Amino acid sequence: MEYISTRGSAPALDFEGATLAGLANDGGLYVPSEWPRFSRDEIAAMAGLPYAVLAQRIMQPFVGDSLTQERLLELTTAAYGRFAHKAVTPLKQFDEQQWLLELFHGPTLAFKDVALQLLGLLFEEFLGRSDQNLTIVGATSGDTGSAAIDAVAGRAKVDIFMLHPKGRVSDVQRRQMTTMLAPNVHNIAIDGSFDDAQAMVKRMFNDQAMTSRFTIGAVNSINWARLMAQVVYYFAAALQLGAPHRPVAFSVPTGNFGDVFAGYVAAQMGLPIERLIVATNVNDILHRALSTGDYSAGTVTPTAAPSMDIQVSSNFERLLFDLNGRDGAAMAAQMAGFETTKAMTLTNAQREGAAALLTSARVDPDEMANSIRWAWEAAGELIDPHTAIGLHAARAAGLPAGVPVVTLATAHPAKFPDAVERATGHRPGLPDRIGDLFEREERCDELPGTYDAVAAYVAQRATPKA
Ligand SMILES: *Cc1c(COP(=O)(O)O)cnc(C)c1O
Repeated sequence: MEYISTRGSAPALDFEGATLAGLANDGGLYVPSEWPRFSRDEIAAMAGLPYAVLAQRIMQPFVGDSLTQERLLELTTAAYGRFAHKAVTPLKQFDEQQWLLELFHGPTLAFKDVALQLLGLLFEEFLGRSDQNLTIVGATSGDTGSAAIDAVAGRAKVDIFMLHPKGRVSDVQRRQMTTMLAPNVHNIAIDGSFDDAQAMVKRMFNDQAMTSRFTIGAVNSINWARLMAQVVYYFAAALQLGAPHRPVAFSVPTGNFGDVFAGYVAAQMGLPIERLIVATNVNDILHRALSTGDYSAGTVTPTAAPSMDIQVSSNFERLLFDLNGRDGAAMAAQMAGFETTKAMTLTNAQREGAAALLTSARVDPDEMANSIRWAWEAAGELIDPHTAIGLHAARAAGLPAGVPVVTLATAHPAKFPDAVERATGHRPGLPDRIGDLFEREERCDELPGTYDAVAAYVAQRATPKA
């Protein structure tokens, strides 16, 4: 399988190349040159497969020659063997129509483990084939950082530099990053917001002085391999609910548009998806874009669902590219306009193409809290604020009876105990596997919110190209 950039001018790469590159060098994002498709019979034959086997089947067409079937299965078995539930992503039922897909049984309690546990192994595999080192630079509003650090801590040939906005991630989120003491892990708290941190990371990918000395890699969901790994649980859930014989809808708490884009990919591959509900909090750029065509960034409002406090959704570009006839030059022009004015209008083809599968919803803080309460009172389930936003949108979507609606549970409630306790009066406890988090030693450096300070810090500590 070949990977091409959404902006049309970066060189095409194979899966190994796209995984190590992260962002394309024309500023675009890598996407497969075509969507592999499974027939109805092929999908039906996947029912009941163990998760790691299903993962190998779904991902092999994307991986192509970069890994043999046997090797890919070894990697999926190792990655998903670290999950605390045998089903990896178990499904729970709320009522006749509403279901919950628990994606938080990995080591750091958020869905990002599903993709990052595999990505850490892919990095190690591909770097082992050459004398290359990889310098991973990432920005996190909380969950990506801990999941990425857990996935690469102690791995050979990789250094990770993770920026988080100082004082703006929860104590659990911070400690999950800063208590990882492996020498290849570098935590940086910057004076600034998540968007500031993300802008610095993007700048470093385009900074010749850095890219000529270091091979810089990405763990944010601009990395295609992450989205690929997330396609698997859409299949896993739909198969359990009767696909391909019955269509299923999904409601996805959305920030950077990575998770819901994986659902879009599953649909392109032949999975019968009735609707994808894009649930946002009050940081609603995606809801405005999908409902009115206006994609314009405002300022970020902090909420109880911080992993969705995002104004610029990187992966939206992948959708817009696919819906605009995959015209890289047109996409480059559209994004150049957005980068100067922080606003753009979707084309008719983009609006109509999106509307065929996607519905959006904006969920305010009261609706979020009511949704946490409903899950507790109706089903005895404690759910986290991100999941609650998805569940509210799922229940409000008015889908036909008989269509199961699956809300993606993106974080364990214990990651956000204050919001859960305020809504229900019950404080969720940390699972045993990380129960001693608050006793562990922390290590983190603080830097001013300037690009130069961060670049100098990385340059001093990273391993230069051979
Ligand atoms: C990252 C994250 C999201 C948003 O996912 P995207 O792929 O960025 O849209 C939602 N909920 C939680 C808990 C997250 O960690």
